[in-house]
Amino acid sequence: MNVQMILLRFGELTLKGKNRSRFENQVLQHAKYMLRSFPRLHFIKTYGRIYIELNGEPYEQVAAALGKVFGLSSFSPVHKAEPNLASIRETALQAVRELPNRPKTFKVSVRRADKHFPHSSQELNGLIGGYVLRHMNGLKVDVHRPDVDLRVEIREEGVFVYSEVVPGLGGYPFGSSGKAMLMLSGGIDSPVAGWLGMKRGLVIEAVHFHSFPYTSERAQQKVVDLTRQLAGYTNGIKLHMVPFTEIQTKLRGGSRDNLLITLMRRAMFRITEKLAEKHDALAIVTGESLGQVASQTLSNMYTINQVVRMPILRPLITMDKTEIIRIAEMIETYPISILPYEDCCTLFVPKNPTTNPSLRVVERIESRLEWLSDEIDKAVEHTETEWISQDTPGTHDELF
Ligand code: ATP
Ligand code: MG
Repeated sequence: MNVQMILLRFGELTLKGKNRSRFENQVLQHAKYMLRSFPRLHFIKTYGRIYIELNGEPYEQVAAALGKVFGLSSFSPVHKAEPNLASIRETALQAVRELPNRPKTFKVSVRRADKHFPHSSQELNGLIGGYVLRHMNGLKVDVHRPDVDLRVEIREEGVFVYSEVVPGLGGYPFGSSGKAMLMLSGGIDSPVAGWLGMKRGLVIEAVHFHSFPYTSERAQQKVVDLTRQLAGYTNGIKLHMVPFTEIQTKLRGGSRDNLLITLMRRAMFRITEKLAEKHDALAIVTGESLGQVASQTLSNMYTINQVVRMPILRPLITMDKTEIIRIAEMIETYPISILPYEDCCTLFVPKNPTTNPSLRVVERIESRLEWLSDEIDKAVEHTETEWISQDTPGTHDELF
């Protein structure tokens, strides 16, 4: 038996009234975009519900695409029955049989919007439930906490039967929270941070610092691939490639080796903020996690943070590595992140980076680097921007 429709559920419980309908419309718009390769789908809004009619499109593939839509809390495959008891019973039985996990207990909840139907809701619960029980060994009824709630809706336009609830990604509609710059390295953390930002409604533009020729073409390709993977949740992502070789080599020439990382990261944040201003973004997202490495102690974050005024969003700040890796695996950035090619920071890491830099000392050192502000401007000026998407590059620029 085929699934004919999908019932969509949206958003957070706190949403009310106008906000809810705006939220739904935004998610719906994005869902339509994400499902663009299924031309026969038909979206219907009725009685406060939103359904997709499959019209012969394959359920499994459509469901996989829905699994990448932010703001969708869950969805259910819907089986359509004929408006007679025999068809409803048979459809209900099939729906329970097709569940991915065989339930031990169930209940039937009938809603009869079409009052012409010859049985009451109460009677139908018994008539349908009894039929399913007779045909499935070991299944029991539990009206309080059933494994499966088999829902039957009798409407004028048809009878809908559904029970499976497939969890969606949740989060906010794509792009509903404004734009931020993601500092994207080739590592495990920053793609996850970017994805979590997107899930919360951010449009992100990625900023990557490279030290070509010290870092290879392949290291750059890895960042392009990570961006493309994230772009699978959107129509595409802008990737800004910042030439960082000059600044890094000049900083390394300085005497305070243990402050190198702190100085480098201050330069990175300054450049990222300038790029953010240029591209109308209001925040910076990083993959930092408190205490994970020397440069991510509170003291270092404090010292590095001083150079920017924009909010810095750190979605991973309190997460453990195992939690981060779990998300990286789910969004399939992990296999790309663990490819061995080095990014700029790995190459220039000093032996003993300080975990407790003095802001005063750092500022004093920088004040003597008379080349620094020019080099920062130059890096911004020579940044190369690419549009990365899973389709042909550049096809959806007009949406931004
Ligand atoms: P990641 O796994 O994201 O590389 P990390 O644990 O290696 O993070 P760091 O190297 O200290 O930690 O980097 C902290 C954050 O700084 C990264 O998550 C990323 O947001 C940013 N960052 C580091 N290197 C780069 C780079 N080459 N280009 C852009 N951003 C970078
Ligand atoms: Mg890294």
